[in-house]
Amino acid sequence: MTTQTTAPLDLLRRIFGYDAFRGEQETIIGHLVSGQDALVLMPTGGGKSLCYQLPALLRPGVGVVVSPLIALMQDQVDALRQNGVAAAFLNSSLDWRAAQDIEAAARRGEIKLLYVAPERVVTERFLKLLTEIEAGPGLALFAIDEAHCVSQWGHDFRPEYLQLSQLHERHPKVPRIALTATADQATRVEMAERLALTDARRFLASFDRPNIRYTVVEKDNPRRQLLRFLGDRRGQAGIVYCLSRKKVEETAAWLRQEGYAALPYHAGLDAGLRADHQRTFQREEGIVMVATIAFGMGIDKPDVRFVAHLDLPKSIEAYYQETGRAGRDGEAAEAWMTYGLQDIALQRSRIDDSEAPPEIKRLEAQKLTALLTYCEAPRCRRTVLLDYFGEKSAPCGNCDVCLNPPELFDGTVAAQKALSAAWRTGQRFGAGHLIDVLIGKATEKITRFGHDQLPTFGVGKDIDEHMWRGIVRQLVAAGLLQPDLTEYGALKLTEAARPVLKGEQTVQLRRPSKPTGGKKAARAGAAMEGLLSKDQPLFEALRTWRLDKARELGVPAYVILHDRTLRLLATLRPEDDDGLAGVSGLGAAKLEHYGDELLEVIAEHAD
Ligand code: ADP
Ligand code: ZN
Repeated sequence: MTTQTTAPLDLLRRIFGYDAFRGEQETIIGHLVSGQDALVLMPTGGGKSLCYQLPALLRPGVGVVVSPLIALMQDQVDALRQNGVAAAFLNSSLDWRAAQDIEAAARRGEIKLLYVAPERVVTERFLKLLTEIEAGPGLALFAIDEAHCVSQWGHDFRPEYLQLSQLHERHPKVPRIALTATADQATRVEMAERLALTDARRFLASFDRPNIRYTVVEKDNPRRQLLRFLGDRRGQAGIVYCLSRKKVEETAAWLRQEGYAALPYHAGLDAGLRADHQRTFQREEGIVMVATIAFGMGIDKPDVRFVAHLDLPKSIEAYYQETGRAGRDGEAAEAWMTYGLQDIALQRSRIDDSEAPPEIKRLEAQKLTALLTYCEAPRCRRTVLLDYFGEKSAPCGNCDVCLNPPELFDGTVAAQKALSAAWRTGQRFGAGHLIDVLIGKATEKITRFGHDQLPTFGVGKDIDEHMWRGIVRQLVAAGLLQPDLTEYGALKLTEAARPVLKGEQTVQLRRPSKPTGGKKAARAGAAMEGLLSKDQPLFEALRTWRLDKARELGVPAYVILHDRTLRLLATLRPEDDDGLAGVSGLGAAKLEHYGDELLEVIAEHAD
């Protein structure tokens, strides 16, 4: 391939089969091609890979990509090869002979993109190889993927990343690009400093993920709620996050009983089994992974259709990262969470019980509060999330609050009643007992403690039990009441409760939704979305063809073709090569390899 004269857009079309660049891709590519450094902050699914893949193709020499995820390297290299790009990886999964062959090919300039694990980059052997490549075919660029791994404050710290600044010291003329989807400010700053990229041009994309629909439901019967959510999503790939290993195991087993292809994943599983489950999830279609947060980085599956949280994550950052694993392909996806009072108590005790120094605990408590504010938000969830990351936005129309606005009411009197019930009972009881006092339910425990004699007994009869639960939860989320786990969730008043009790401050509450779950957004499987019924058989046939092909080649289905491309094929029904060439996602290599077979499948389904 002659390099200098090719325009980025031509390559995008010819190799990847895409019509146009997204966002700032083109500017970033031009910046690198001209030999300058870049720091790219783009959400998951934003299209970061092309930002270094294309410049590597456009510049002479070998592009070196540092990537921390072995499982992912394989898929990325497979995907590039499918597009006819000379790509290879070096990591511990290769035997020495295979590694040697790849090194030799790189020295000869026969590889355009060389993926390598960070721990290998800093070895003497690899550093020597880099010197040889630079003296030979040349080094096109260094790309540092998942660059936030260099930050100790971040969640994925990798000590080897600290040594990556060597690359620049040894090869100062080679342009570098560092990429991450991490949105928080502290990590970004540390990243630029540690990678010696403070002078690099920054490309900051919007962190909005418009195709993800956010929903938070009040926990009443989480399993039933999850089943209802999963109801019309059979056959779709998704992740269900739980806090504990035990709950992961139980939930996965139960989902299997319910007929879902569910697999567990947590750090307590045998490493081989864990890798096996991750691989199955990545390669097969329609697997539901039930996991702790140990299942995190390294999930690069573009067609994850939903991420469900059965437990509260620990911060908005964590929540955004976990939900961000849905819908990388840009197609409609769901972020769904069920959350209740117990979740707040659990997370608070996690913070209280930790050995961390007080300033860290304080920070964690602040992060939890921010997340609770999100959960209880009476306004567009996306606006709250983006606000948190310093981005302004208008109501989105694609979250539960926008679709089904909650009713707000002046809850000052209700709040006073609940707070005084806690006060009068000595701040020694949990939500259930306080609610019994409020609605005047003379249980054995109530009479034993003489709480039926209190002036607060029965003052809240006008409100039902379900609604009281919602109110108490909101008071806890707002920090007026604080659960004390050392006393079995006893609710204690905080300083912030005083002005409310004295009537100096009003409280806005949202009316809890009915436990029936409200409107069900009846949506067919997202893969079929937007297809006319007459085109569905062809789409299915194309999927079957793709699955066979993927099995034959031992790669994930999406490496062959994306759902979006299949959908276009099913709708446009091209009849010849020219027609095929106009379909997004079909580059020259794929046209050559699969064109005839695709035309055949389409012809068999002529209408
Ligand atoms: P990230 O690494 O930022 O999460 P990827 O690089 O994996 O995102 O890209 C996400 C998806 O978007 C991929 O399926 C990719 O092929 C696709 N994509 C990227 N850029 C474009 C584009 N310009 N046109 C169409 N699809 C694109
Ligand atoms: Zn919204």
